[in-house]
Amino acid sequence: MGIFLIIFIILSVLLILKLNTNDFKGKSGEKLVAERLDIIDGYKYILNNIMFNDNGKSRQIDHIAITEYGIYIIETKNYAGDIYGRENSNEWQQYLNRKCFKFKNPIHQNYGHTEVVKKQLEGFIDTTVIYSIIVFIRRCKLHTDTKTPIIYEDQLASFIRNRAKILNKEQINQIYQILLDNSIKNKETIKNHKENVKNYIQYKEELIKEETCPSCYGKLIKRHGKKGYFYGCSNFPKCKYTKCIEEVERS
Ligand SMILES: [Zn+2]
Repeated sequence: MGIFLIIFIILSVLLILKLNTNDFKGKSGEKLVAERLDIIDGYKYILNNIMFNDNGKSRQIDHIAITEYGIYIIETKNYAGDIYGRENSNEWQQYLNRKCFKFKNPIHQNYGHTEVVKKQLEGFIDTTVIYSIIVFIRRCKLHTDTKTPIIYEDQLASFIRNRAKILNKEQINQIYQILLDNSIKNKETIKNHKENVKNYIQYKEELIKEETCPSCYGKLIKRHGKKGYFYGCSNFPKCKYTKCIEEVERS
């Protein structure tokens, strides 16, 4: 009995130590933001924690959301307390427990990230569709006065969804491929890519359920062929998408 209690105490202490490290706080903030990005509707690719080589310096970007509403370069801050900052000041302030801590203006930090992404995509797309957003986790109170959007993580999806649709599926695919090809390959990017593929498969299944063609967004029509029922695209012969319907039809 005693040995279990000792093991329990040791595990608890280790967990508390882990919860208190800044790295863990940063990571969990990024996870919260990644979850919010997942609920943006429409065709999209989300790249979390992606790295690029910028003139010999590696640049790590928290999130890139490639959506029908544009490309969003997101810097996540998981701070508590009161946050004060202006667009152009070099440092921002965090007031916590009557103490003031200074940190680098996240707008400046994310400006560099946004420029790196613009550099990769120059010549392929109009780079004015690339936007910078700073997201703070709702543990703090924001007192910021800026032109660049500074929002809480729970406002992120609706913020993006309120913008106009400016990118189509082909452009989103092309942008994703370019960014993935130019990024520094590590465990994270590979894991991320697998998740994107999984999300894409789910997204395709949802479209098919709504009888929408996942290839061209045309209407799917139930047809009968030699092997039974299948879905064909109403834009045939321009679109050759087909999917067989496995369930047996009951009359
Ligand atoms: Zn189609």
